[in-house]
Amino acid sequence: KREKLIQAEQMNVINNLSASVSHEIRNPLTVTSGFLQLLNQSKTISGDDKRYVEWALKELNRAEKIVSDFLALGKPQSQNMVQSNFKEEAEYVKEIITPYANLHEVTVQLSFNNELTIEYDKNQVQQCLLNLYKNGIESMKDKGGTLSVDVSSQGHRILIKIEDNGVGMTKEDISRLGKPYYSTKVEGTGLGMFMVYNTITKLGGKIDVQSEQGKGTTFHIAIPV
Ligand code: ADP
Ligand code: MG
Repeated sequence: KREKLIQAEQMNVINNLSASVSHEIRNPLTVTSGFLQLLNQSKTISGDDKRYVEWALKELNRAEKIVSDFLALGKPQSQNMVQSNFKEEAEYVKEIITPYANLHEVTVQLSFNNELTIEYDKNQVQQCLLNLYKNGIESMKDKGGTLSVDVSSQGHRILIKIEDNGVGMTKEDISRLGKPYYSTKVEGTGLGMFMVYNTITKLGGKIDVQSEQGKGTTFHIAIPV
């Protein structure tokens, strides 16, 4: 029991650190990347130098991805807490992901029918939905398709369904979902689903995954009110 307590305490420290570190690291990353892009456009840069700058930009881009997938993993912050029904978050994330969806010829459809509210951290829920929408879009990037998101309620539960008709997963893939650093993508971080499970678990919710290779994937999330 004592070991469990220590573990929980350590997890708390990690969560707190990760949230603040992510926020703090983002700005210098963006600034550095901006200057390197300027350097890259300079008329006097050539040959090897240009290659080095491009490498540096690529690595910065990777760091930015890790930070992005991870951003709101920390403890709920009191200034972000709301008592709400997920509507704003589901719509906001749809808006910010639409350019990315268009790029991959994916249409995002959102249907919303939920009056139930719970207390949650806005940033965390946005980040969680963003990671789910993003994975759905990425699973369809070779052939395009539709990502449909449905938020509804049933009895005393809020249900969030996220469905894609992308590459799908095997049983083994599904069993690895949510393990930190598990990724099948060339430029993946494997932190997105870790963040998703973390957030939903903190809300007392459950995630059910249905998936078939070549057909697509549906996430059913149920959160008790
Ligand atoms: P990343 O997206 O950086 O690879 P994630 O933690 O977000 O990391 O996802 C982990 C892995 O889970 C992905 O690499 C992918 O193999 C699988 N995955 C997650 N969502 C889906 C989905 N909607 N369809 C197919 N595979 C998925
Ligand atoms: Mg992802």
